[in-house]
Amino acid sequence: MIKKLLIANRGEVALRILRACKDMNIKSVVVHSSADSSSMPVRLADESVCIGPGPSKDSYLNITSIIAAAEITGADAIHPGVGFLAESEKFSRMVEEHNIIFVGPKPEHIALMGDKITAKKTAVKLGIPVVPGSDGIIDNIEKAKEIAAEMGYPIIIKATAGGGGKGMQVVEEPKDLDEAVKIAQKEAQANFDNPDVFMEKYLQNPRHIEIQVISDMHGNSVHLAERDCSIQRRHQKIWEEAPSPAITENKRAMLGGIVVNAMKHLGYRGVGTIEFLYEDGKFYFIEMNTRLQVEHPITEMITGIDIVKEQILVASGKPLSFKQDDIKITGHAIECRINAEHSETFLPSPGVVESYHAPGGYGVRIDSHLYTGYAIPPYYDSLISKLIVHGSDREEALRRTSRALSEYVITGIDTSIPLHRKLATNSDMQTGNYNVHWLERSFLPKAKK
Ligand code: ADP
Repeated sequence: MIKKLLIANRGEVALRILRACKDMNIKSVVVHSSADSSSMPVRLADESVCIGPGPSKDSYLNITSIIAAAEITGADAIHPGVGFLAESEKFSRMVEEHNIIFVGPKPEHIALMGDKITAKKTAVKLGIPVVPGSDGIIDNIEKAKEIAAEMGYPIIIKATAGGGGKGMQVVEEPKDLDEAVKIAQKEAQANFDNPDVFMEKYLQNPRHIEIQVISDMHGNSVHLAERDCSIQRRHQKIWEEAPSPAITENKRAMLGGIVVNAMKHLGYRGVGTIEFLYEDGKFYFIEMNTRLQVEHPITEMITGIDIVKEQILVASGKPLSFKQDDIKITGHAIECRINAEHSETFLPSPGVVESYHAPGGYGVRIDSHLYTGYAIPPYYDSLISKLIVHGSDREEALRRTSRALSEYVITGIDTSIPLHRKLATNSDMQTGNYNVHWLERSFLPKAKK
């Protein structure tokens, strides 16, 4: 069993993992940048090691410093959290080469799913339906035009190494394809150090449905149902729900079964999320994330499974403590991602939190590293808090979300709380009648007026 875990991350997710360590009686080490010296995870960890200055490339992405910190502190495992090195094949391989447990999948599975084209090809082989598109990278614009004409416009161009909603280009008409491919390749090179792009049919009204899985090293895989992450801005999730208001028990069992079989076939270990677009009753694979997801708490609320604890247990070599039949969905959960940004202009708003009051009460959970006087550094992701609410059904969860948001006070910086307050009482949200384009096409233009 893991005795001392090094957390190679920051902010709320570092705190989430740290809390699991304390609950499991595992010693904790947090590595941090000098900009995070007074952060909550650093204050609460058993040990902390400063690994460099503020910019991520000099600290949270500095593999040698992180591994050195693990060796110096005698940590026997490293949890990469979410983002930074969580999906780096190189990092996971180097961690294992130093005889340290990597709390995550095998390096080869990270590599397999880290490249979207390879991931889609693997999905096809495993019997998972994918979004129609180019078979490989776009290396010949004339051929790309033929494929696009065959599929029909609009199409979307994506970076094969992409993530975080970056670098996607939607093309409505053939005359714009050439230019869009060039822009996408440039952005892909700048963001992911890899210019390769591919093409997919751009679906008009899909929901984003993802399945949470967990697998141990003994051949067991279980799915923990779906999350609906269709409320997005710039292809990034803002509000998530579990279960999806649009998925029936039969569909869940069908899709969950396909995913579990695929994981068993791969010999996958650890937690993972398989993401689909869902339109007109059909699912289309888009990608797999080989790590913990930001939105994992809503699954914890409806299943009663502590996903981070189970992740640490399976990384220690323990068999899963539950079977598929043990997983029962109770009620409905919602997560609001609260960012340090203006709720209408979306401009980032780092700075000092002058006062902080978190909501509470039955069914309310806050995963946040904020405190009064905390200075949010300018270097990182703007996520500052996750409000997670559980209700006996969706109606109650929505009312409770609204209630909790009305109690939440964060002053000194701009936050996205006002946006969430409007969302929680919106009529389309009440009926669950939304898709991935709804926020930007229907909600935000009206919210501005
Ligand atoms: P990333 O890895 O950058 O997050 P994804 O491939 O997971 O990119 O897609 C993120 C989001 O972009 C999806 O949830 C969806 O809203 C939108 N998207 C991606 N592919 C398509 C598509 N083929 N048609 C319509 N929307 C898409």
